[in-house]
Amino acid sequence: MEARYYVKEGDQIHCELCPHRCVIAEGKVGICGVRRHIQGKLVSENYGKITALQVDPIEKKPLAYFHPGSQVFSIGSFGCNLTCPYCQNHSIAHGKPASTDYSPDEMVEAVLRRELDFLAFTYNEPLVGFEYVLDTAKLAKAAGITTVMVTNGYVESEPLTDLLPYIDAWNIDLKGFYPQTYQKLGGRVEPVLRTIERVAKVAHLEITSLLVPGINDDREELKDMFEWIGALDPSIPLHLTRYFPAWRYHEPPTSVEWMREIAHEARQVLERVNLGNVWEVK
Ligand code: SF4
Repeated sequence: MEARYYVKEGDQIHCELCPHRCVIAEGKVGICGVRRHIQGKLVSENYGKITALQVDPIEKKPLAYFHPGSQVFSIGSFGCNLTCPYCQNHSIAHGKPASTDYSPDEMVEAVLRRELDFLAFTYNEPLVGFEYVLDTAKLAKAAGITTVMVTNGYVESEPLTDLLPYIDAWNIDLKGFYPQTYQKLGGRVEPVLRTIERVAKVAHLEITSLLVPGINDDREELKDMFEWIGALDPSIPLHLTRYFPAWRYHEPPTSVEWMREIAHEARQVLERVNLGNVWEVK
């Protein structure tokens, strides 16, 4: 499937889907690993390639204030445009696992066949497979299905503008607030803040911050982040979730006691703060 949002300059392709703006030579892929330059065209290699598909409670996205109690048909592909060393979904974000092909039509039919009303794009970074998400979300909306996006928010303005009308609820990761934190994750914070600001104006939005020891545990940084969200809208729900060692990062899991202290601080400026992934702690 030919990708959108690129220009050709000489022998190179410039991808304009996300703020990396990769310059891609013939035969190569961009940082996300799924958009390849083939004979002068940019091709979306994960279009319709589904690696994960299951029915989840909406609270697991996490969306705690959007149709609570609903079941969501949740799908993922492969690829991601950030490189968080602790990635909790690394096998599909940074690997290329077995996949099953679903056209957008087939996907919408699969949702309707199960008599479900919700479809979530989740698990890997859905926006690196932008064309499939857009095509499927359009069909889903036309069929009366409510759409959910779980994303790192690392996307350029033009594609975001094109997608906004077709997504009803968003959960966006805010992985830190200072430039040096996002540097450790292979990106920049400003584009994520821009995405959050735009989504907050037009759709249901909840934010997730995975609290990772040694990555984003600076209290001043977290305080500044909470204040920024509060200034945008203090009613935006914030999920502070617990990290567990994964992929290339081996620090012990986040202290639950410390998470409770941080949640207390967040509640000074935000009205809806939840802790996540703490269920197994007695
Ligand atoms: S979407 Fe992929 S190829 Fe395009 S700029 Fe981002 S990382 Fe690079």
